[in-house]
Amino acid sequence: MRRILIGALFVSSLACAASAAAQVIPGTPAHAAGQAGWAALREGRNQDAAAAFARAIDAEPRDPSLHLGAGLAAFLLGQPTAARHALERALALAPGLTAASQLLADILYRGSDIEGALRVYEDALRYAPNDATLVARVEKLRREAELHSSYFASHGARFTVLFEGPADEVLAPRALEMLEAAYWRVSTALAVYPEPIITVILYTEEQFRDITRSPQWAAGQYDGRIRVPVRGALADARELERVLVHEFTHALVQSVAPRGVPVWLHEGLAVAFEPSGTEWADGQLARSPARLPFARLAGSFEKLSTGEARLAYAQSAAIVSALLERGGAAAVGAVLQDIARGDGFAVAFERHFFMRYDDFVASLDAPIDLLR
Ligand SMILES: [Zn+2]
Repeated sequence: MRRILIGALFVSSLACAASAAAQVIPGTPAHAAGQAGWAALREGRNQDAAAAFARAIDAEPRDPSLHLGAGLAAFLLGQPTAARHALERALALAPGLTAASQLLADILYRGSDIEGALRVYEDALRYAPNDATLVARVEKLRREAELHSSYFASHGARFTVLFEGPADEVLAPRALEMLEAAYWRVSTALAVYPEPIITVILYTEEQFRDITRSPQWAAGQYDGRIRVPVRGALADARELERVLVHEFTHALVQSVAPRGVPVWLHEGLAVAFEPSGTEWADGQLARSPARLPFARLAGSFEKLSTGEARLAYAQSAAIVSALLERGGAAAVGAVLQDIARGDGFAVAFERHFFMRYDDFVASLDAPIDLLR
């Protein structure tokens, strides 16, 4: 599945909205700290950004733009509850701050709170009645609130299942059991636990198929939710479980580090945690000596041919298995958390794997066996 990363463009547009709403006086310590916060966000140094906004808010607690920045930093650090509080504060100070409304609604939506997201957009619309984006979002969410009127929640309250198509009351609890099991297995191994409730959308009118090796599935609409076509899926429960584990791993990685994770790490973890994922990858690589260059695995797999994509998934899984063997899963989890704080992969890797990143990359250009 293709990941949409929260890019520099998004940070810039929020920074722009914030500077229009800013009330701090240039030259004051609060202003300087706020500026440092936005600069850190642009460079992906999210932990530094959070610290800078906290300093700025201490000095000037009534500036909504600073709370917007603090909210964005918390969101990028994988802390949606803290982000929500910061954004609610921004909106209490400036109810017409549309950028804060949009980010808050997005966070609520990711946490399955469609009604809450709808309320935030409707409030925002009162201050910007001609904002075409807001009008479109409100319409979309109203339709979705109707569509998803029946839903299931897991016992552990970590997942919510929604249906696209008629509700399936046999399949939903089975899928939730599989996801709860995946939660304990994968989260415990990586020692990272997703904070928000994860939404799973089951497409009950679409034939079940393997979407895990198909970079085009749901391309362009990834929003932190797990989406799986499930018609007839119980005919092969093991395969359904494999697909759910794969997609859950993506959701977990995304919740820990919303941006900055190379695609090979995202996909490699998702395949490696599948039951028999490593065996699948080894089988694929044994079939042919062809390898994609490592650099090609860092970006989207979407443009790859079917054969190249299969290779890309298999190579990614082999690299991740080697990482898991070398440093343990918790070290990989620690790398993800460092990426969330704003470190590049190379820096985080060297900190937790006690190996030069260049040596690691060089070892990948050799046949994959040499990694072991
Ligand atoms: Zn995937």
